[in-house]
Amino acid sequence: MALIVQKYGGTSVGTVERIQAVAQRVKQAVDAGNSVVVVVSAMGKTTDGLVKLAVEISANPDRREMDMLLSTGEQVTIALLSMALQEVGQPALSMTGAQVGIVTEAEHSRARILRIEPDRLKRHLAQGKVVVVAGFQGISSTNELEITTLGRGGSDTSAVALAAALRADYCEIYTDVPGILTTDPRLVPDAQLLAEITSDEMLELASLGAKVLHPRAVEIARNFGVPLVVRSSWTDEPGTWVVSPPPKPRSLDGLELTRAVDAVEFDTDQAKVSLLRVPDHPGVAARLFGEIASQALNVDLIIQSIHEGNTNDIAFTVTHDSLRQAEAVASAIIPALCGGDPAATEAEVMVEQQIAKVSIAGAGMIGRPGVAAQMFTTLAAAGVNIQMISTSEVKVSCVVMAADCDKAIAALCNTFNLTSSPYQEMRTSELPASSPIGHFKDATHHSVLPPVRGVALDRKQARIAIRAIPDRPGMAARVFQLLAAKNISVDMIIQSQRCRVVNDVATRDIAFTVAQMDGETARLVLEEARPELNCDDIVLNAAIAKVSIVGSGMVQQPGVAARMFAALAHHQINIEMIATSEIKVSCVVSETDGVKALQVIHAAFELSGDRQIQMFA
Ligand code: ASP
Ligand code: MG
Repeated sequence: MALIVQKYGGTSVGTVERIQAVAQRVKQAVDAGNSVVVVVSAMGKTTDGLVKLAVEISANPDRREMDMLLSTGEQVTIALLSMALQEVGQPALSMTGAQVGIVTEAEHSRARILRIEPDRLKRHLAQGKVVVVAGFQGISSTNELEITTLGRGGSDTSAVALAAALRADYCEIYTDVPGILTTDPRLVPDAQLLAEITSDEMLELASLGAKVLHPRAVEIARNFGVPLVVRSSWTDEPGTWVVSPPPKPRSLDGLELTRAVDAVEFDTDQAKVSLLRVPDHPGVAARLFGEIASQALNVDLIIQSIHEGNTNDIAFTVTHDSLRQAEAVASAIIPALCGGDPAATEAEVMVEQQIAKVSIAGAGMIGRPGVAAQMFTTLAAAGVNIQMISTSEVKVSCVVMAADCDKAIAALCNTFNLTSSPYQEMRTSELPASSPIGHFKDATHHSVLPPVRGVALDRKQARIAIRAIPDRPGMAARVFQLLAAKNISVDMIIQSQRCRVVNDVATRDIAFTVAQMDGETARLVLEEARPELNCDDIVLNAAIAKVSIVGSGMVQQPGVAARMFAALAHHQINIEMIATSEIKVSCVVSETDGVKALQVIHAAFELSGDRQIQMFA
């Protein structure tokens, strides 16, 4: 007998018939001997309808009144589902967020959950009732007992938080797709269902726009080790399990306000190879990394900065024992890459052996742009210059001079209140023993994760390039502080490798991507700060698309990035920027190439299958 939290999304409870079908499914779980808590969304598009009503009355409605209004949607569903359960002979009771004790910050329309006080809920469960809880809503921790909402899509978050607080055996998210797919089936019809995915992979995909799960729900599942499964409401198929490594013990108090950074990590076995002034046309990265992969050299970070004239810089890091070979490959390939291109006659290879990678890691940094800025500020204050930056949803890594490594770690541990841990990758062998997954174990019981689990396309990004910004500690910090102050999250961040001397000052270019809707604000903020930043032009380009591959298995396998680049080259798609993290490779391409890029990459990793995924609108 297990304690299960089941969550049903809006489509799954969109009509009376569907609510009745959900009641049947809930009853089955109870009849099988389980205790069940159900969390529901508002019926169908109810929440959108309520928003529309509000906007007809006020262009800028009060956020408190909005919460009062939107929270009613879920209350309709809980009462109806409870009645439907009673109709089929299943004792049930509906409860609002407040009645369940879902206590949140007093931030209307985007409250984070502070704690859950489920004593009353537990009493009803113990009496054999199904408790049906309104998702998406809570009650403020202040004396006023204000109704709050968690932000659109937030009922996933209610469900997983409740599962964590109740220490439920697992949480099931029922939705209108059969689970997590390798990519968006509207763009790639032969996208396939995944049997499992790690929470780190899911976080990357969710933030890249895979809408199936609210990223905050994944964050809680990861932090508290809640086993999570995404399944279809219409079938009995097993769906996709989202699995997490054993969590560090943490208090349920301040549930969603866990500290931003869990660990400071470092890796001193890193060396950097840079290719300066290579031609900017399709196939260059593919040839370079294809050659590197054919020598079985494993590359860690890769960046390609924005072009300058007709050329690019590409830099990557390898372990020290691979450096000689990697350098030899790079040097040997330069003439072939440049093949008579006059713009590229000055191409050269540079190596740097004395470098280290320092990272901050933690699911708590999601959606908090200030955290990366804080890292850069800390490094600047310690006088540490940043050579390369790589970001993912749950990690920011900076390449610095090896001589600065100790200083950097000490300063970061101090800022984030931590002791350092040596660099460690999450191995799938560390997945919880209770994980219902056995799929990827080979005959010797080693985990063999496929290198790429999902491919995502983000067409809602814009790129900002800051030209010729002085190359000294503190500049990245300043740029990202300015953006964080406007609550703008930055995704890919790239510094050019090429150093240009302008009026006796060494400068580099910095480019990064932001959500398209933040593009103009970001440009204006930086434009205003131009005298202080002492840089050249600040250029905004919204006509870009970002394609990414995500997979925990890529850390152990050489050649994954090369395969992605080769797929793009084969279709004459030019790569405008490259950035990688441990489990993700992202390329910026022109907007018009976006969908094609997604399709050819999905095919290149053989993610396609022959099962047609049914989509319900
Ligand atoms: N009904 C809310 C919304 O549409 C919450 C949810 O469905 O997750 O945003
Ligand atoms: Mg939803």
